[in-house]
Formats: sequence, structure tokens, C-alpha cells
Amino acid sequence: MNKLLLKGGTLVSARGTKRADVLISGEKIVAVGKRFSTDARELNVSGKLIFPGFIDAHTHFDLAVSGTVTADDFDHGTKSAVAGGVTTVVDFATQYQGETLTEALNNWHMKAFANSSCDYAFHMAISDWNEAIENELPAMFEQGVTSFKVYMIYDAMALSDRAIFELMTALKPYGGIVGCHCENAGIIGKLQENAIARGETSHVYHARTRPDYTEAEAVKRFLSIARAADAPCIVVHLSTKAGLEEILRAREDGVAVYAETCPQYLLLDDSAYHAPFDVGARFICSPPLRKAKDNKALWNALKNGQLDTVSTDHCAFTSEQKRMGERDFTKIPNGMPGVETRAALMYTYGVKLHRLTLPQMCAYLSENPARLYGMYPKKGVIKTGSDADLVIFDPKGSDTITASRCHSRSGYTPFEGMQTIGGVKKVFLRGKLVYSDGEIVLEHSGHFVTRKKYSL
Ligand SMILES: [Zn+2]
Repeated sequence: MNKLLLKGGTLVSARGTKRADVLISGEKIVAVGKRFSTDARELNVSGKLIFPGFIDAHTHFDLAVSGTVTADDFDHGTKSAVAGGVTTVVDFATQYQGETLTEALNNWHMKAFANSSCDYAFHMAISDWNEAIENELPAMFEQGVTSFKVYMIYDAMALSDRAIFELMTALKPYGGIVGCHCENAGIIGKLQENAIARGETSHVYHARTRPDYTEAEAVKRFLSIARAADAPCIVVHLSTKAGLEEILRAREDGVAVYAETCPQYLLLDDSAYHAPFDVGARFICSPPLRKAKDNKALWNALKNGQLDTVSTDHCAFTSEQKRMGERDFTKIPNGMPGVETRAALMYTYGVKLHRLTLPQMCAYLSENPARLYGMYPKKGVIKTGSDADLVIFDPKGSDTITASRCHSRSGYTPFEGMQTIGGVKKVFLRGKLVYSDGEIVLEHSGHFVTRKKYSL
């Protein structure tokens, strides 16, 4: 068996940091400690941090949406992921209306198979709910799909409160968990219609027609449904202080709610929409970018351990695709790239600015998503028996984020020009070096990860 010793690095876990060597044999970590006598090949990583491979539990690769298809398929999306230290993505297999869950899952397997440069798993996004779909749930668990996604908004995807309640209840015996895109469809739909009727068609109205209380209301309603079902749940891409307050209140009432946010809701705000269309439209995502007070509240929540994961909602479109909505902001495809830049941003603007500790960064990017999505301890931790998914992170050196060095096909990054400190140097996926000093050195070796019940 091929053996490798990573020597002299500082290992990061959700509980702390320690100096230790890591012995890899084949795809697994076989020992963690010091002074091994081994015939393994050695790699000196002194001065470097070693994280368990980052997990991005919120990506949309090869997704048909808004009359187009996301710019990044699994090939480009997972290369972008690996370059950002991500060794596992959990993408959203999406059931389009009229499809069975089995069809949706098979479709996503076909998109990802032999195309992925990191490991991948799927949440199942449900857009149709009826008895036949309910009867397919056991088959999803048998195939390693244990988390589900619902939308409260988008005509093509939205489920009623009743359907969400029924789904949550149906998932309980299996230990399944539901994540929700929380926005009030009725208010936003009408605000958009009014804006267009008044001739307010430019991209700046995207955020103005999605006020923060439309997220907070939907969060509160989703958590009431979870309370009624007595089921755990996840609020994905939380963007507002008002929504956070609903989560904290529901927890006091005993609701088991986990919450995710994304770098764009921590680091960017709605002033980005003041730019002319071609630049401003790059920042169109839903929920939209918010205010400085929301950024601040979310950073505080991360610091206080009130959130559980930081994912990206990577959903990339080119400038040309964005132009579909040049005369009507409601037609701008929603989403931005992010999978590649998350780690450097969280290190620079989180750890280095003392908004987060290193162990917290590890918790939010590796261990918590592994636990929440049923992959722990195979993923998310550096310990004997775990997959040798490892990120060699250089804490020194500075850089500037620029799209020209990113792998997304969107052609831009919303974080263009931002300074970073430190960065991903090498990435091992199940023991194989897949990324090294700016280059993808091994492609398409990602496997599907079958997941168990959540354990956070
Ligand atoms: Zn999303």
C-alpha cells in the first residue's frame, strides 16, 4: 500500500490545534501522532496548518434553472472546489415537477459520475409532494441520501406549508432532515410585480423587493412547521439579523434548528447593487445581499456558536446569462460562484480578524457539515480510520482574489480584488494529491458518498 507521512504540521480540529504527524496508507489516515518509524514517503509540512478536507454542503452544479443552466457543471464546479480545499460537496439533486425522486437522483448521478474531482453527495430537493413521492423516501435512504431540501419560494420549486409539514413528519422514522430556503413568496411576488409595473426594472430592485422581514417571516413559519412535526431542521443560507433572531427564539422553545450562512452574507452588502448592470447583476442571488448590520449579526452568531455551517450556495452564471434580466430584474438568473474562495476568505476575514478561532473555522467548514450531513467520522476530522481528505493550508503570505485564477466558468468572482492572507497549498482526496500549488494535479477521481443519519 502506498504510504505517506505528513510531517511537522499543525493539525486543526473543531476542538483545538496540535502539532502532530499524519500517516496515510492508501485512502485512509492510519495514524496520528509523533515519531513514527515508518518506511513511508515523507512530506515536510512544517509551518503549515492541516485541516480535514473542507466540505461545501450547498452547491448547485449543472442545474437547469431560470430558463438556463448553471455555468459550472460537475467537471468545472468540482475543480473549483478542490482549488479551494473542498474535498466533498453536497449538491442538490433536484426533482423537477412531474419527476420521481428516483429519476432526479439518477439524473444527478449521471451529471456527477466520472466528472467530479472531489467526492460528492446529494441532498434531494423536492418540488412535488404526494403519496407516490412519500413512498420513494425509503429508497432515498437506501441510496445514501439522508437530507432533503424544500423551497418556500420559486413557482417551479415551492412546496406548501402543509406539504413541508407532511414531509418532515414522514422523514422522522428514518432520521432524515429537511433544509429550507426561507423567503415569503407571496409578499416578494407582489412587490416584484408592483416594481415592474412602475417601471422599476433595474437590478437594484432585486434586493428592494426582498426586504429582510420576508426572510424572517419564512424562517419563523418554517420553524413553526418543524415544531408541529417535532422534527429537526436546517435553515440554509441565512442572510439576516431578523431571521437569526427567529432562530434563536425557536431554539428557546425547544426547536432543533441548525443554521447555515455563506461568505457573501458575511462580507458583502447591498451597496454592491449600485454598480451598473454588468457588475451589479453579478451579485444577484437569493436571498439578496443585505446590510452591514446583518453582516455583523451573522459574524457574531458564528463567534457565539449560534450557527452550524458556512457553505457557499455556489450557483454560477456568466455575465451573458445574467443579461437575460437586463430589462427585467426578475429574469436575472440568481446565484454566484463561491466554492473556491470560501476557505481563504474565512481564514482572512474570520480567523485573522478575530471573528472566529481556527477550531471554529474547522467546525464550520469541515466537522459540522460532516456531522450534520451524516458523513462523520469518515469525513470532517483527522483521525485514524478517517478518509485521508486533507488540506495543507499556508497561514502566511498574502494574495488577492481574482477571477482569472479561479476555475469557475462564470468568468467572475463576487470577491474580486479582496486581499487574502494564507491559502490552500495542497489538497489530498482519499490519500491522493489532487491539488498542488495552484494546479489541479489529478482530476475526476471523486466518488459518491453514501450518507447516514445526521449526528450534530
Ligand atoms: Zn441554493
